[in-house]
Amino acid sequence: MTNIPIEEQTFFGHPKALFILFFTEMWERFSFYGMKALLIFYLTKYHLFSDDTGNLLIGSYAALVYAVPVIGGFIADKYLGFRKAIVFGGIMLVLGHLGMAYEGNAATQSITGEITRDNLALQVFYFSLAMIILGVGFLKANISSLVGELYSVGDKRRDSGFTLFYMGINLGSFLATIVCVWLGESYGWSYGFGAAGVGMFFGLVTFISGKKFLMGKGESTNQPFLEKRSFGLKNEWLIYIVSVLSTLLFWQMVQNHDAVSIALQVAGGVSFLYIVYYAVTKLDGKAREQLIALTILIVFTIVFWALFEQAYTSMNLFADRILDRHIFGFEISAGQFLSFNALFIILLAPVFAWLWVKLGKYNPNTAVKFALALALVGLGFGALVMGINLSGVGKVAAFWLILAYFLHTCGELSLSPVGLSAVTKLSPVKIVGFMMGVWFLATASSEFIASLLANIASVDTSNGLAPDLNVAKESYLKLFEYLFYTGIGFGAVLLALSPVIKKLMHGVDKELNN
Ligand code: GLN
Repeated sequence: MTNIPIEEQTFFGHPKALFILFFTEMWERFSFYGMKALLIFYLTKYHLFSDDTGNLLIGSYAALVYAVPVIGGFIADKYLGFRKAIVFGGIMLVLGHLGMAYEGNAATQSITGEITRDNLALQVFYFSLAMIILGVGFLKANISSLVGELYSVGDKRRDSGFTLFYMGINLGSFLATIVCVWLGESYGWSYGFGAAGVGMFFGLVTFISGKKFLMGKGESTNQPFLEKRSFGLKNEWLIYIVSVLSTLLFWQMVQNHDAVSIALQVAGGVSFLYIVYYAVTKLDGKAREQLIALTILIVFTIVFWALFEQAYTSMNLFADRILDRHIFGFEISAGQFLSFNALFIILLAPVFAWLWVKLGKYNPNTAVKFALALALVGLGFGALVMGINLSGVGKVAAFWLILAYFLHTCGELSLSPVGLSAVTKLSPVKIVGFMMGVWFLATASSEFIASLLANIASVDTSNGLAPDLNVAKESYLKLFEYLFYTGIGFGAVLLALSPVIKKLMHGVDKELNN
C-alpha cells in the first residue's frame, strides 16, 4: 500500500479524502444536532420561554445558520478556498458550542405568573449562537463543495460519494441525539451542550490532521490576493477579523425575528438576481438552462424543509407532551426520537442509492424525486394525524411518530443527497460554492417559515409544562393536517412541472444517478 501515491489510494473505492470529510462532517453534525435537539426544551423548560418565542428563536437561529453559508461559500470560491474556510468555521464552532455550556440560573415563575430570567446567561447563549452561525456559515456548504471537488467531471462515483458523506452527517446526528440528549436531560444542560463542543473539537482535529489526503484540493485559487496587504494586514487576516466581528451583528439579529426576515428576503433577492445576471451574461445554451433547472428545484426545497424541520420544534414538543414514549418497556426521551430520522438514513441511504441504479432507465429524474419527497413529507404528517385520531382521550402511540420519521426520511433521501450532487453538477464550476450556499439559503427560509408554522400548534404553558393533554392534541392535529395537505399539494405541482425541468437539465441528471 505504501508505494501507491496518495492520490491513487482509495478506501471502499473512494478517494481517502472522502473519509476525512466524512468524519469531519460527522463531528460537526454531532455538535449541531446534539445542541439543536436540546434547544426547544432548554428554552421552554429552563428559561421558561413560551412555545411561540421558543419556536421563533429557533427559527431565527436556524435561518441564520443556513443563510450565512451563502457568504461563506462566496468567500471560499473567490478568496479563501474551501479548506481554509472549513478550518476557520471549525474553530468558531468549537468556541460557540463550548459557550453554550454556560447555562447560568434557571428562570422562575411566581404564583402570579411573572417570569424572572437570568439575562446574563441569555446574552452568553445568544452570543454562542452567533459564533455557531458564523462557524456553520464557513464550514457547511464548503465541505459539501469539497466533496464534489474530489471527483472529476463524469466520475460515476460522485453520487455514491455523496451518499456516503450523507451517512456521515447522519451518523453524527444519530450519536448526538442519543448522547447529548441523554447527558443534557440526566446530568444537566451544560453537559449536553458541552459534549457537542467536544465533538466539534474532534472534527476540527480530524480535518486538520487529514490535510495531506486532500492533495491540494480545496486550496485558494486567489493566493496573491490573500497575501496582499490592506490596512497593514494580509487580506487573509482581514477576512478572518471582519468575519469574527460579524458575530456582533448575528448576536443582535438572533434576538430579532423581524431583522432575520428582512435579511432573508434581501439575501434571497440578491442571490436570485445574481443567478439571473450570471445566467444571462456568462452562460448560454445548455449551461444556462441547467442553472435555471437547478434554481427551480432549489425553490421547491423550501417547502420540503419547512415541513421537515418541524422535527426540532413542534414535533419535538409533541413527542414530549402527547406521545406515549415507551417502547418495549423502555421510556425514550422526546429529543431521542429525533435519532430515528438519522438511523433510518443510515439504514436506507445505501438502499436508495442501490435502487436508483437498479431502476436503470426507469430511474426517475431529479424533479420527480423531489416531487416524491414532498409527497412523503406530507404523508409523514398524515401518519401523525392518524395517530392522534386513533388515540381517543389517551396519549398517542410512539409507533406513529416513528412512522412519520420513516416517511420523512424516505423523502429526505429522495431530495437531499440527490440535490447536493445535483448542485455540484448543474452549476457552472466557477460558482459551485455560491450555488451550494444558495441551496442552504433555501433551507434558511424554510427554517424561518417552519417556526411560523410551528406556532400554529403553540399551547399555553405554565412552568414550562402544557397543562391540558386534549387541548394540546387539538392544536397539533390542526398543524399536522395542514402540513399533510401542503406536502401533497406541492408534490403534485412539481410532478406536473417535472417534464419541463427534465428538459432543462439536458441529461446531466441521468449521469447523476448512475
Ligand atoms: N440533514 C442534512 C444536514 O444536516 C440536511 C440539512 C439541510 O440541507 N437542510 O446536512
